[in-house]
Amino acid sequence: LFTIESVKALVKDYPDFPKDGILFKDIFPIFQNHRALDCLLNHMADEAITFSKKLNGSKIDAVVGLDARGFLFGPTLALKLEAKFVPIRKRGKLPGILVSASYEKEYGVDIVEIQADSINQGDNVLIVDDLLATGGTCRAAEDLIKKLGANVVLNQFVIELCELNGRDILEAPIHSVIKY
Ligand code: 5GP
Repeated sequence: LFTIESVKALVKDYPDFPKDGILFKDIFPIFQNHRALDCLLNHMADEAITFSKKLNGSKIDAVVGLDARGFLFGPTLALKLEAKFVPIRKRGKLPGILVSASYEKEYGVDIVEIQADSINQGDNVLIVDDLLATGGTCRAAEDLIKKLGANVVLNQFVIELCELNGRDILEAPIHSVIKY
């Protein structure tokens, strides 16, 4: 039987990747063990369902995955929650009418985009990504959802790097499975 503790043991540290001084957490070893992946996704879905039950009867309408590793979890979560899946992508990747938001990176500014017709006004949205660091990426995603008139009800992450205090700049509640 797989537990979240054993899922955590599969996350692999890579010092000085992608550059000096960064300790990169690699989540792909989890995907090499289908029982670990099943445990993780069921845990995330259960937590999201428990949370959505507190939303006075309303359900999660959309799971929004963040480019790129949020796409590994989003569609499966959406299936389990009987919700739609919608991507937020880095600038220039999505066709059609878009809404965009910018956020500060270590060097300069990044822009993320969503398709304007993918989310309805009043939708309850779950945002999912692999990792919460400074929170800039997820905060830009929250801004995009708000621009479309929808509500972020939960931000969900596989990993949270607590010392970077990313949760302080996010508006919606947060569930992270593994905390460092
Ligand atoms: P933030 O905007 O919170 O500073 O950074 C979070 C984004 O950077 C996420 O989309 C995440 O995929 C990526 N990221 C930053 N550091 C790591 C890491 O150590 N491991 C992984 N897997 N992703 C990271």
